[in-house]
Amino acid sequence: MAIHERSLVEPERVLRKERLVVDGIDVSGDWNLIILPRTINDYDLDFYDEVIAQPEGKTIVNCYQCSYCTASCPVHNYWDERYNPRHFIYLARLGLIDELQKRADVMWRCVSCHKCTHRCPKGVLVEEVLKAILRVMAKKGIIEEYPSKKFDKFFMDSVYEHGRIEDGELLFGWIEKQGYQVAKDPILKKPIPFMGGVPQWLKDLAIKPIKNMNIGFLILNAKHMLFHPKTKNWNRFKQVLRKVMEEEGVFAH
Ligand code: SF4
Ligand code: SF4
Repeated sequence: MAIHERSLVEPERVLRKERLVVDGIDVSGDWNLIILPRTINDYDLDFYDEVIAQPEGKTIVNCYQCSYCTASCPVHNYWDERYNPRHFIYLARLGLIDELQKRADVMWRCVSCHKCTHRCPKGVLVEEVLKAILRVMAKKGIIEEYPSKKFDKFFMDSVYEHGRIEDGELLFGWIEKQGYQVAKDPILKKPIPFMGGVPQWLKDLAIKPIKNMNIGFLILNAKHMLFHPKTKNWNRFKQVLRKVMEEEGVFAH
């Protein structure tokens, strides 16, 4: 039995009388609420199987619709209640692709906090499952790839290259990719933070934490930005990783 939050039901299907007395019994308000049934014939039975076939989608089978994920989700609670991980999983299982498509504008808003995954009592890797659903939707041409996917790829390429998260390269490389002029030193050609056309909002955002940063940590970060330390034996590990990723169909370099 599916759980349906009131917000998910179209208002025209909700019947409710403010004042109603039946056989002398007062059933006003929510006591007489009826949701009109609807006939659905736009489902795609292969959709669910395709989600399961994705490397990130396998755990969708464990979901028993308790909604812990949605209750923990900051995007649902503080931004837009249409963003509802439990409901997306429910729709994907039934193959209700039209319903998923209606929510495509909010489905990309996950901030990858993993609260849902930590709280799921059934071990569903919720965030990954949602990515798998989006991936299948994009593959079927139901939605367009969202710009954030481009950042995902940029991020992944950077980690794949260095075996670690290179904050400086990631941040300034991405800014440059967006068309901003990033100033670089003439020898190593590394970005000089806050010089060039770095957007003001980023300067405002970064300046406060930097001011409060321990000096040793600042020096370490600057050193890393210049010399890009690699994880030990990364080149060997990279070959193994590449093989696994290609086999899983995640990406190919
Ligand atoms: S918390 Fe887990 S089991 Fe519960 S609805 Fe979310 S994904 Fe499904
Ligand atoms: S990872 Fe995404 S879906 Fe999960 S709680 Fe965070 S924002 Fe919500």
